[in-house]
Amino acid sequence: MIPVAFDYERATSVDHALGLLAEHGDEAKLIAGGHSLLPLMKLRLATPAVLVDIARLPDLAFIREDGDEIAIGALTRHHTVNTSELLAREVPLLAHAAGQVGDPQVRHRGTIGGSLVHGDPASDLPAVLLALGARVIVTGPSGERSIPAAELFTGFLETAVGEDELLTEVRVPRLAGLGWSFQKFTQRACDWAIVGVAAQAGEPGGGRGPGVALVNMGATPLRATGVEGALAGGADAAEAAALAAEGTEAPADLNASSEFREHLARVLVRRALDEAAEG
Ligand SMILES: Cc1cc2nc3c(=O)[nH]c(=O)nc-3n(C[C@H](O)[C@H](O)[C@H](O)COP(=O)(O)OP(=O)(O)OC[C@H]3O[C@@H](n4cnc5c(N)ncnc54)[C@H](O)[C@@H]3O)c2cc1C
Repeated sequence: MIPVAFDYERATSVDHALGLLAEHGDEAKLIAGGHSLLPLMKLRLATPAVLVDIARLPDLAFIREDGDEIAIGALTRHHTVNTSELLAREVPLLAHAAGQVGDPQVRHRGTIGGSLVHGDPASDLPAVLLALGARVIVTGPSGERSIPAAELFTGFLETAVGEDELLTEVRVPRLAGLGWSFQKFTQRACDWAIVGVAAQAGEPGGGRGPGVALVNMGATPLRATGVEGALAGGADAAEAAALAAEGTEAPADLNASSEFREHLARVLVRRALDEAAEG
């Protein structure tokens, strides 16, 4: 449980961090809260030669209104997301789910940007961002680009964020007053989800459609496309939830078989759709 030796650089600005990434290439890794990267390093599954610490960058921890979106800085900690009055009003699904991540210690160190770039299919917030139809802003050598959450998660612990880029901002739509639900099935409080479901009701009158996404049902965080398609076609909650495992590749491990996870997905999606429908 001891990482290999590494050098440590503390970035003082986004440009400084990008410069350090350019200088050290694929030998370097950004570290924010360290709550996903350090466990990997202790297991020697990640062996960066240089850690670029961005945790103290002053400009990347914020939550603010911006038109029809709420902008959240990448270094905003789970606890801050969980206790934000603005998010509780405008994007309650995200505020609530951030309070379900790990334990208080994890929520005080871990960041929303780190959780998204780590791209763990068992993490809670990636599925929430998928259900919300959110996007992220990434900054790199050639400037800024926007990546929809639906295109962010490209493989197991892999995302569309390049090794020379920094995720700087998360952008979530304002959804005040619409129904939502977050279902997290765990063996013990504070555990990772065996299966989780994030559901966001759509806008009445055919605007934004409903979003449903799954935790720990495949190699990446997943949208429940079968469920979303059925709802768009007029199916009721029971009919849609029956399709929850469609297109998934549920893992089998000490906690659950693939079949049990598929069953859980159907049960939890049904609960989530019912709860979201209550508004
Ligand atoms: C005991 C324990 C329990 C946990 N339980 C849960 C749980 O129940 N649910 C859950 O969702 N999560 C859980 N987590 C994970 C936790 O939420 C992490 O904080 C989060 O996944 C990663 O955030 P971080 O800031 O710690 O990232 P780090 O560990 O610092 O970084 C993670 C990865 O993201 C990259 N990175 C970080 N920030 C950026 C950025 N701005 N731009 C580009 N790349 C970046 C790093 O290079 C690294 O590859 C748990 C962790 C622990 C240790």
